[in-house]
Amino acid sequence: MSNVELVAVGTELLLGQLVDTNTAYIAAALAENGIDCYASHAVGDNRERIARIVGEILGRADGIITTGGLGPTVDDLTKEAVADALGLELVLDDSALAEIEGFFASIGRTMRENNRKQAFLPAGSIPLVNPHGTAPGFIAVRADGKFVACMPGVPREMKPMLAERLLPWLRSHFDVREGIVTRVLHTVNIGESEIDHRIADLFAGSENPKIAVLAHDYRCDVKIMAKAASTAKALAAIAPLEEELRVRLRGHVFGVDAMTLEGAVLVAVDERGESLAVAESCTGGRIAAAITGVPGASRRFLGGIVAYDNALKTGELAVPEETIERFGAVSEECAIAMARGLRARLGAKIGIATTGIAGPDGGSVDKPVGTLCVGLVDDRGERAWTLQLRGDRAAIQARATTAALGLLWREVKIS
Ligand code: ATP
Ligand code: MG
Repeated sequence: MSNVELVAVGTELLLGQLVDTNTAYIAAALAENGIDCYASHAVGDNRERIARIVGEILGRADGIITTGGLGPTVDDLTKEAVADALGLELVLDDSALAEIEGFFASIGRTMRENNRKQAFLPAGSIPLVNPHGTAPGFIAVRADGKFVACMPGVPREMKPMLAERLLPWLRSHFDVREGIVTRVLHTVNIGESEIDHRIADLFAGSENPKIAVLAHDYRCDVKIMAKAASTAKALAAIAPLEEELRVRLRGHVFGVDAMTLEGAVLVAVDERGESLAVAESCTGGRIAAAITGVPGASRRFLGGIVAYDNALKTGELAVPEETIERFGAVSEECAIAMARGLRARLGAKIGIATTGIAGPDGGSVDKPVGTLCVGLVDDRGERAWTLQLRGDRAAIQARATTAALGLLWREVKIS
């Protein structure tokens, strides 16, 4: 049995200036590793109050995990407070000092005296290496086995320390043998309720492996979680269920785990050996931004044109003026003409275009706010879709981006 509590240290957290994302992140990681977390707390940068809460928790729990307040500045007091609570001295840790010196050497900066302060740890504690910053973490273990593990507040430093150092230590400390594996299937062009309808019977009585559907802006994730005596056994339990889910959701699963929709689009374009360009009106460059966020995008992505004003649609993309006059700028005809013109202008094999009404103004009875037209032109033909999106301007633009990428993925991958 494990019983851990979390403490987020930082006055900013109590002033509402900073949202505590560390607690949620660590709580999720503990749950995935079968370690029970019974409470979480936030406390300011105050030595007595940190020491007091650490002392209180040690009275009832097996261990504490803190984040924040490990830096070199005067308001970073977690280490001192933990030493107070445990009745330990702070002593210079040679390995921590060597690590901090190495970090400064690697970035070519001079180490200050206050950085030396960071190499002092409560006597007898286990240092936790921080390759992404100067503040080492540590685990101070009391004679009765209760512990206080402290990590830096900066999420970019905390996350690798948790995954690479603290979690392995916790699993061995609590003798957690079981493996918990999570696999996420990412879907697009299908709604949450349709997914639910198709897989409802798999949900029924699914305790282990467990299934959860999570809706994002215009796409859904299906998460499978399995707990078993080992990671290999958990993976084996997931495999047949994943197989079944893929059959039920055929044509919608664009990737698993770390795969993004834009990443899947580029993989699909790459498989065809083609090139891609985008013409964007209502999405204002968001599709191009998403695609260029993928490493290696330059292999298949040529670029894009943000044609917001009608003059740019007719001028840069050679959309005929009569198309706009007859059907309007937000029309399937215009979207196709934009994609056609773009393809000719940039010499891309695949051209995709968006035009729509992001609001809050500009809607009409025929074309309300949230109307989105997507046009796609490639060697296989010309096609267009009209979608009705909900939300405020930001939500509509985000959803339009996902919807266009989803249609693009489906057309390139499946058709
Ligand atoms: P540093 O060496 O950078 O001083 P530290 O361990 O002292 O690290 P803090 O000074 O407490 O950490 O926080 C540094 C920054 O880390 C904060 O300004 C904030 O951006 C981020 N941070 C701290 N705590 C949290 C938290 N609970 N959730 C999310 N971000 C946090
Ligand atoms: Mg700090």
